[in-house]
Order: sequence, then structure tokens, then C-alpha cells
Amino acid sequence: MIQIPAIISVKDLADKLNLPVTKVIGLLMKNGINATINESLDFETAAIIAEEFGQEAEKIITKSQLQITDSGATQQTRPPIVTIMGHVDHGKTTLLDAIRQTDVASGESGGITQHIGAYQIEHKNRLITFLDTPGHSAFSALRQHGANITDIVVLVIAANEGIKAQTVEAIDHARQAGASIIVAITKIDLPDANLDRIKQQLAELDLVPEEWGGKTIIAPVSAKQKTGLNELLEMILLVADLKDLKAFRQTKAAGVVIEAKIESGLGSVATVLIQNGELKIGDIIVAGTASGKIRTITNFKNQKIEQANPSDPVRIAGLKTTPNFGDPFLVVENDKEAKNQAEKFRHEQIETKVYSLSQSGLSEGVNEIAIEQKQLNLVIKTDVKGSSEAIQHVLSDLGNQEVSVKITLLEVGPVTDSDLAMAKATNSTIVAFRVPVNPALRSEAGKQKVVISRYDVIYDLVSDAREALSKLLPPEEVEIPLSRSKVLAVYKGDKRGKVIGVQIDDGLLSKGNLYRLRRGEKEIAAGSILNLRREKLEIESAKAGQQIGVLLINDANPMVDDVLETYKIELRKRSLS
Ligand code: GDP
Repeated sequence: MIQIPAIISVKDLADKLNLPVTKVIGLLMKNGINATINESLDFETAAIIAEEFGQEAEKIITKSQLQITDSGATQQTRPPIVTIMGHVDHGKTTLLDAIRQTDVASGESGGITQHIGAYQIEHKNRLITFLDTPGHSAFSALRQHGANITDIVVLVIAANEGIKAQTVEAIDHARQAGASIIVAITKIDLPDANLDRIKQQLAELDLVPEEWGGKTIIAPVSAKQKTGLNELLEMILLVADLKDLKAFRQTKAAGVVIEAKIESGLGSVATVLIQNGELKIGDIIVAGTASGKIRTITNFKNQKIEQANPSDPVRIAGLKTTPNFGDPFLVVENDKEAKNQAEKFRHEQIETKVYSLSQSGLSEGVNEIAIEQKQLNLVIKTDVKGSSEAIQHVLSDLGNQEVSVKITLLEVGPVTDSDLAMAKATNSTIVAFRVPVNPALRSEAGKQKVVISRYDVIYDLVSDAREALSKLLPPEEVEIPLSRSKVLAVYKGDKRGKVIGVQIDDGLLSKGNLYRLRRGEKEIAAGSILNLRREKLEIESAKAGQQIGVLLINDANPMVDDVLETYKIELRKRSLS
């Protein structure tokens, strides 16, 4: 078993496999990847290659990519960093607000806090840092940067609704990030609250409640009635103690950017979360490709401070350009080093092409049969039973009356030849969830036109499945109004239809347009416009203000003062809401 991070260079992979790098490059080439020694591979690809050389690979979850150079410094306890996650409308925002109000200190300062993407509260003389609900996609983005800044995820579940798709996604995010989960069952004041059902659902997802002999801490709360909040905070501190969260203090500060924007008068302002060290005014810092000297540090209470410590979220001004969400930051010695670091980061961003064998998404599996059946068939292979259950749960929530996901097979284990046969027979796409796909099977699947999609994160799987389902929805017909005219005169016409004289009030009226004739509110005829004449000449179209003769096909029986509307029908792609 070798351990591989989310992204690894070809050279490092060869080192881990104890093989000459040329051998690794050779096998990559066989798989259609022309990577050079310093280029990188994603975990899945590296795992496939390792497997080919007879080694099983395990993904390393890194807490932070930042390296602390000052190893002489000692570590000290730091406040936990908490993210509140859960399904939409389950009460995340309300809970965050309620927690904020428990904080006596902020109450004393008038409670005027500034929205900076994070804040801290004090409970029993200890600090807890809360990240404002970052949203699942933001969480994913942070993780992709290798920045797992969250220590504890408070998983919010509404007592009356139970576990929903985004709850399962949140569990998956937390697990992937190596964060501890505390379940806050909210809205317990509601009459249809059902705690037992939720505990049952949690147990099914491998989160067995403590009272049932498991390890999952459950805190029932009502953000509305402000009950259970202290207990929840106690639990957070308890978990923090168990995790023994520590950081270096006497070192140059380093951390992650969690918000950045340009503000008038201040220039670039970034909220950073400090992971190690002390940040002081005058420090020279690099954040992503931005650099500068810190002019001001402001805390979430909008107070100017001189220095900030590990786990503190602070706003800093002084960067010359604006960094991006998720960029790492660090304090450096001088301007020259700042420039070098920023340049290095820029290079890494541009030059590290990450090769991957897992590029086909579920949408690529949408073919004519699927469109006709309005069904997305999936053969799903996962790493562990917990993943299978979680995936089943979220996928069953997708779809609507028109389109649906059908799981033709759901099993733990690697993708095999018989899975391929099954997928072929049932017009299914294969989902390889955290399991390897060997190159021979992949190329066989390619020949048989079976798509294999690899996923590591449920969130990505679900958003791809949603996109694929949208492709199954028949397009929507949208009526686009084109013109509106008043009938001034009715002529006899010919055997094809009636001729009317109209005054165009609005828009452009053209030959071939669809029309609708109205008398008051009532529609009296519809069809298409066969011919247009203006002063005896045939024309293609006429615009507002003009008077023309119109030949209406169909057995319309127009009268003076009727209204003639023309329109066209456009087909629009729909998406699953
Ligand atoms: P979010 O989308 O998860 O941030 O959910 P919100 O915090 O916006 O809450 C969604 C709805 O649930 C709002 O109408 C809240 O007033 C309501 N809500 C939140 N917490 C509670 C609670 O503890 N009890 C009750 N009865 N309603 C709540």
C-alpha cells in the first residue's frame, strides 16, 4: 500500500513506486497520457498506474499544503474552525445567527459585526471560529486547493424533514476533508419533529448515534426558541479537545484566503483564516499571486487590531492585487521573496497540467436510447458500503415526473468485465466511485461505447447526474411575440385564404410567421402568414407604422378592429430545477 496525495508529479509517483521514472512515463504513454517527469497526475490516474505495477494506493488527506519551516517552534492549542453545512432551508443561517447571539462579548460591543465570511464567538472563555456557510461548491473548491481548513462540520438536519440530498453530500464533504461531524438536529420545536427517524437515517449512513452505541454526537436544537445552543457549543469544544487542535504560534503566519474583494478607499481587501503563526501589521505577505505589506488588520467586529493568531479570521488591507478564494497565504522575509513566491504560485497555476484518466462525465453517457426512455441508467461500483448507501440516497432524490435515475447495479468493489457486460446490456453508464478502473477494461469500454465516469466526491457525482438528467428533458417550446397589428379592412382574397389590410402597431411582421387573430380576449383563428403586399408589391416583411395587405391562410373570418399577432416558437434547453 502506498500513499498518494490528490495530485502527484510523475517523478514523485515513480519514487513512491520505487521505479525508474521512465517506466512510469512508458505506462502512462500506453494509456494515452504524454506526461513529462515534472507534470502531475490526479489521484485516480496515479492509483491506476500504481495498480498496474502491483501496488495498491491510498489517498492522503492533507490538512494543509502549507509547510511550516520553523520546526523549532512549539505548538499551542488553537480554537476549532467550524463550518455549518446541510440541506437548503434546514436552518443553517438561523442557527449561525442564534449562535452569534449567545456570544456575550459581541452583545456587549453592540453586536455590530461585519460580514467577513467568518466570525468567532467566546464560550466558557474559549474561542470558536465559524465559517459562514460556504456552500457545498465553495467547500469543494477549497478542498481542491488542498485547503481543508475545517476541523468540525456541524451537520444541520431539520427535525421535520430528515436527511436530504445535500445532507448526504455534506457528510461526504466532511469525511473527505477529514473533519469531525457533529449533528445538529434543528427545528425540534416543530410539531412534526421526528428525532428517532433521523437517528435511524444517520445510522444507515454509518453515523451511529452515541446513545445507540455509536460515535456520532447529536445535539437537538431549536434556533428559533434558542434551546440546545449551549449544549451544541459544549460538544464543539469537546470534539476540539479530542482532536487536540494545535498550531505554531512563534512563526511567520500562514493560512488561507476565504474572501477577497476591492473596496473603495482601501484597495484589495482579503479575509484570511490564519492556520499557523501570528500575523502583524507591517508583515509582508503573499496570497496566491498577490503580494503586499499589511497596512491594517481588522477583526470581524470591525475593530482594528495589531496582531492576529491561529484560527482567527481577519480582514487585511495592503495587498497590491486581489487574491482568489482558497489561495494560500504566507508571510515572507522581504519584497524580493514575496515576488518570487507569487511568481512561483503563478507558474504552478499555469504549468502544472494535471493529467487525468477520469475525464468522462455522466453526460457523455446520455445517448438516444436514454433520451427516448427519459431514464439515466447507472451501474455503480463503490469503495465501501457507506458510499453505496449514500449514493443511493442522493440519487433517489433526483429526477422528477419526467426523467429519472435508475440504478441497474450497485455494488462494492472494482469495476469488472461483468459490470461492463451489464452496462452494455442495460444501456447504463458505469460510475466508479473511489474505485480504480484498470486500463484494459477502460479501453474495452471505449470500444463498446460504454462510458465509465470516475468520482471521488458525491457532490460532483450528483451535480453531473443532474446535468445528465437535464439532457433527457425534452426542450421547452417558448413563444416569442414578433408583431401586433390592427385590422383596418377585410378583402375577399382568393381560394387560399382571406386578405386583410392592417396597420402594424408594434414589431416586425414577416412572411411565414405564425399568427393568431384576436377579437377582444378571444382567439378566433390561427395559422401562418402566406403573403404580404404593400402597394401591390409582394414584400418579405414590414415594420411598425406601416400599412400592408396580409394573406391569411386558413378559414379565418376576420373583421375590422380584430388584432393580428405574429409570433415564433423557440425550443429551449431545460434544466432540472
Ligand atoms: P438555510 O437555508 O439552511 O440557511 O435555512 P434558514 O436558516 O434560512 O431557515 C429556513 C427556514 O427555517 C426559515 O424560515 C427559518 O425561520 C426556519 N427555521 C430555522 N430554524 C428554525 C427552528 O429552530 N425552528 C423553526 N420552527 N423554524 C426554524
